[in-house]
Amino acid sequence: MAIPVVAIVGRPNIGKSTIFNRVIGDRVSIVEDKPGVTRDRIYGTGEWLNRHFHLIDTGGIEVGDEPLLQMMRHQAELAIDEADVIIFMVNGREGITAADEEVANMLFRSNKPVVVAVNKVDNFEMRDLMYEFYSLGFGDLYPISGTHGLGLGDMLDRVLELAPDKEDIEYDEDTIKFALVGRPNVGKSSMTNSILGEERVIVSSIAGTTRDAIDTPFSRDEQEYVIIDTAGMRKRGKVYESTERFSVMRAQKAIERADVVCVVLDGEEGIIEQDKKVAGYAHEAGRAIVIVVNKWDAVEKDDKTMKKMEEEIREEFRFLDYAPIVFVSAKTKRRLQTLLPVIKQAAKSHAQRIQTSVLNDVIVDAVAMNPAPTDKGVRLRINYATQVASRPPTFVLFVNDPELLHFSYKRYLDNRIREAFDFTGTPIRILARQKQ
Ligand code: GDP
Ligand code: GDP
Repeated sequence: MAIPVVAIVGRPNIGKSTIFNRVIGDRVSIVEDKPGVTRDRIYGTGEWLNRHFHLIDTGGIEVGDEPLLQMMRHQAELAIDEADVIIFMVNGREGITAADEEVANMLFRSNKPVVVAVNKVDNFEMRDLMYEFYSLGFGDLYPISGTHGLGLGDMLDRVLELAPDKEDIEYDEDTIKFALVGRPNVGKSSMTNSILGEERVIVSSIAGTTRDAIDTPFSRDEQEYVIIDTAGMRKRGKVYESTERFSVMRAQKAIERADVVCVVLDGEEGIIEQDKKVAGYAHEAGRAIVIVVNKWDAVEKDDKTMKKMEEEIREEFRFLDYAPIVFVSAKTKRRLQTLLPVIKQAAKSHAQRIQTSVLNDVIVDAVAMNPAPTDKGVRLRINYATQVASRPPTFVLFVNDPELLHFSYKRYLDNRIREAFDFTGTPIRILARQKQ
């Protein structure tokens, strides 16, 4: 089942990000906090009563220095385009403003389900504040308090009641789903076209699950692929679509559905902060990753240029040390044929499962060669290791005390596992559990 998208709209300072953070929570990822892995909190996945949903804080997508009304219009537009259900947030303490009315009108005309959240209703006595908001024309009104966490449950119940169940497209287990992500103008669309070029005849795009994901299946060398595209790249024209934040959000959506994420860089312009952000998301999501340096045709090179660029990438994307790097030109198609085999290899690593006995041999050898350091006189003892999941490969070590598995030793084991098995292109996760 595809996950419904919920968007929060409302004036600045009304409590949108407070609610967003409460609903999404500070989910600490199981991977280490590595430099370069930053979070941009405008898009996230929440869970309420066992149902998952995506949440967008439209306030995070600012379109330059706009006057308030203009900004509100763009945010409402974004919510209408992207979301299945809209949370329209107002400030209970301030009453209805002109901007609220503007947004209400737009949302009303869109026919999207809307839930009005009257925020800053911090205690029971203040509940009367919400009644005037009925005049906005929406029936579903919920008094909430972001700072106190009140009323959120009832509101989310209703939001999910209104959220449609959407069928997701199921692909064959062996089909490799990959996405090209990166900031605007790095050449994602050109690359998509160049990859698909020869397949035009047999290709038909499937307008997918969410109205913004477009999947294009194709096969090459007897391997089935699906390229996960985002309509944002095709539509072009909406004001917010040119913003960095929006493109990051789009990338996140594509990352979610992909097995392999190609982080596309502009070889001509080099690496910028936004590239790292997108790569950080793919890493955190546990996807296989290939770094693609595009526009290599436009780079003036000698025999050291590629090596230098590689070093720079390794330096800037330290957390992606497992990701292979390919240099291509979407425009001239030079080297482009090297991309799919690398994607295929990354997908294979990502899905790989290691036999428990073989894994334990590797761990035993690793420990023999380099025993875990002691911590306050106690040494980590690994009794047994097993792979509990793939995509990404996840290993559990049963140990005397999970606290004793320090980052550096985990790193060491990660390296040993990678030396023993080919995990090129995929992150691997190592977790420690108390032995029973
Ligand atoms: P945004 O600009 O809409 O994302 O608003 P923020 O989430 O940044 O909140 C703006 C301000 O309102 C912050 O100072 C919050 O602490 C405060 N705030 C948010 N929710 C509540 C609430 O329920 N009650 C009160 N009293 N203040 C709140
Ligand atoms: P997107 O926004 O990431 O989808 O980027 P586009 O595919 O629209 O490309 C942005 C610009 O870069 C266009 O003007 C392309 O012609 C150009 N471009 C794309 N790939 C290449 C390439 O490999 N070499 C050169 N020189 N230009 C490219």
